[in-house]
Amino acid sequence: MKILSVNAGSSSLKFQMYEMPEETVLISGVFERIGIENSFYTIKVNGEQIKKEVQLPNHEVAVEYLTNELLENHIVDDLSEIKGIGHRLVHGGDKYADSVVLNEDVMKTVEELTPLAPLHNPANLVGVRAFQKIVPNAVAVAVFDTAFHQTMDKIAYLYSTPYEWYEKYGVRKYGFHGTSHKYIVNRIHEILGRNDIKVITCHIGNGGSISAIENGKCIDTSMGFTPNAGLIMGSRSGDIDATIIPYIMEKTGSTIQEIDNALNKKSGLLGISGISSDSRDIEAGIEAGNERAVLAQKMYVRRVINYIAQYYVELGGCDAIAFTAGVGENSISVRKKIIEGLSVLGIKLDEEANNVRGKEALITSADSSIPCYVVPTDEEVMIARDAYFFCK
Ligand code: AMP
Repeated sequence: MKILSVNAGSSSLKFQMYEMPEETVLISGVFERIGIENSFYTIKVNGEQIKKEVQLPNHEVAVEYLTNELLENHIVDDLSEIKGIGHRLVHGGDKYADSVVLNEDVMKTVEELTPLAPLHNPANLVGVRAFQKIVPNAVAVAVFDTAFHQTMDKIAYLYSTPYEWYEKYGVRKYGFHGTSHKYIVNRIHEILGRNDIKVITCHIGNGGSISAIENGKCIDTSMGFTPNAGLIMGSRSGDIDATIIPYIMEKTGSTIQEIDNALNKKSGLLGISGISSDSRDIEAGIEAGNERAVLAQKMYVRRVINYIAQYYVELGGCDAIAFTAGVGENSISVRKKIIEGLSVLGIKLDEEANNVRGKEALITSADSSIPCYVVPTDEEVMIARDAYFFCK
């Protein structure tokens, strides 16, 4: 059965088409700069990567190119062969603890949740509508970033703010990257051959979050009301003292939008180093002796260690720790520093095993108190699996 996995952003649209249940990727690609000049798309098919520069005034046009590619490359002979389309939706609030068929009610709820994800939810819905028009018979399925974290209890998800902020305005921790955390913990269960275990999953990329998971259920996670909570990220601040905001507004006369922009786009590794939000540039800066790059990475690593330590205690122990996403999968030095910082817990790095990028590996020694793994994430296949579930 042909299933599409879709991730639509405000100016981009990523897709992978799978043959299910085999999970074979038939074609994948990304449309970029939708609605902006110089738009283009790249696709991977039959082991080849092709780039085409085309006008993409909106998502619908992108979906038309996409479906033409499916037909021209004989991935399908008729669009009716596409049985299901899984859409990544960022915010499902506290309404969805699992993926659901995307009917009008769900669309309405996602729209209502826009104030909680102003950049993401509307863009996700534009993608959904474009596919509805062009492939109307496929079952559309919503796969929420927040769903996996819905198992957290109130002690974990409430903020210590006036209770009515929660009741009236939905101010609470939601958590994000749920599809990735779920994929990683499932993989750890497979590797260890059991699921009655405590796992800490570290999704550290441009955005980053850490989850504490017991028996496959999320009990806590580092992102919060928005994806700008918890870890220090590429350009996001992560946790700060909230009172800094009115203080800086008063001092500089900045507007709320300017502060929001600074916390999301000018903070994190970029803000501290003054160089870049990309951890590769930070590593190059460290090599070149840049002190603020050194400081940025030390702060970044410290925050990850602190969350792992916190979740170790919250879980009452831990059976495995997993690293994923851009930094977690590829940065040998960041992983090394994190694991060395956890040595007090008896965790021991295997330097040779840690010399790995983008591949699944056990990176701690046999006598380590907790095994640590690199597990490349695959959110696309999770989205396809959930869509397939509703089409079987
Ligand atoms: P993601 O958001 O998961 O795509 O991760 C993107 C981030 O991964 C980039 O901003 C880089 O900071 C980081 N990254 C990717 N490759 C490497 C690498 N080889 N070494 C260090 N960091 C990397």
